Amino acid sequence: MRRFPCGDRHLTRLLTEALARPAVQQPCWPDPERAAAVVDHLHSAAPIVSPHETARLTEQLAAVARGQAFLLQGGDCAETFADNTEPHLRANLETLQQMAAVLAEAAGMPVVQIARMAGQYAKPRSNPVDGHGLPVYRGDIINSADATPEARTPDPDRMLLAHANAAGAMDLVRELGGGEVYVSHEMLLLDYERAVLWADNTGTEPRVASGLAHFLWIGERTRQLDGAHIAFAELLSNPIGLKIGPGVTPELAAEYVERLDPHGTPGRLTLVSRMGHELVRDVLPPIVDKVTASGHEVVWQCDPMHGNTSTSGNGYKTRHFDHVVSEIAGFFDVHRGLGTHPGGIHVEVTGEDVTECLGGASGIAEADLPARYRTACDPRLNAEQSLDLAASVAELLLD
Ligand code: PEP
Ligand code: MN
Repeated sequence: MRRFPCGDRHLTRLLTEALARPAVQQPCWPDPERAAAVVDHLHSAAPIVSPHETARLTEQLAAVARGQAFLLQGGDCAETFADNTEPHLRANLETLQQMAAVLAEAAGMPVVQIARMAGQYAKPRSNPVDGHGLPVYRGDIINSADATPEARTPDPDRMLLAHANAAGAMDLVRELGGGEVYVSHEMLLLDYERAVLWADNTGTEPRVASGLAHFLWIGERTRQLDGAHIAFAELLSNPIGLKIGPGVTPELAAEYVERLDPHGTPGRLTLVSRMGHELVRDVLPPIVDKVTASGHEVVWQCDPMHGNTSTSGNGYKTRHFDHVVSEIAGFFDVHRGLGTHPGGIHVEVTGEDVTECLGGASGIAEADLPARYRTACDPRLNAEQSLDLAASVAELLLD
């Protein structure tokens, strides 16, 4: 495949039109010319992934959609440049692999592993300013978490650092992962996402293939039907995820499926439900019904983290292990009830011994949270809680 841009006028026009649509959650670069120069530079930077690998993942996700495999996706909420170290990456990959082994044994089917790694550097935020009135931290690819106005100013050169860090992380994934771990991140920062592409003419319509990740997902905050994120995803040949929260109606879900899987390709689209443990049993069934009736074969994946976030009495953003398990149990019940495949889970986990989520076998309590609360964004299950979770999901798979 040829790198994009490559002089293909039709494809260039499609991409320009997609990216001209309104895009929320983008930084306002103080020096737009510098941002454009960085994007230009990245056009010739080394890709992080290869189209052959992505094609293999696409086949494996088709098997998940058909009920013949299970999908485990996980890693940090936000990767940071400081934590892009061999011990951290190794610990996260080992945790993912240990979880996968437990799940594969219980499911009696292959487990496809996708890490939130080698590019998970951009974060959507609910508020534009933080508690100190400073512009909010938007991930290491955009600004710094340090609490000064200078540190929080978006810096387009960070896209170059992100690319270099992602390349280093991917080298380690290949070394440790034996080629069977794929990488993913949220398709959020469009200046970065459009910078490393191939022109993909292997399908029925011209598409672009991302050189930045095998799998990209659209977040809950950037899935506007008329927005740039959905339009850009329509043009990608990679498998795509879409987060859907409790505000998504069955009709809207069906519309997303038509837009993002126009040719009815099994596994092309992964619908990532993140409803919260209290709502999943009520909200998910009509969505599954409607999508099933449309005939599209999507991957149904449960994100049991983002609908179950709360603030502890001592002021920490946290999640309770029991709520995480409860949402997954609800997800399994819904799919078993409807005869569809509960295809996978999408979790925020680390192999490190952090204290960010409550509960689990070791019973982390609110008073324990300050000890090792290290996340740059959302709370992650630690190594032990992650394996506890895999054991709970294994029980559900065996039921
Ligand atoms: C995330 O996956 O870190 C995230 C922000 O999720 P959501 O878009 O579902 O809120
Ligand atoms: Mn998160």
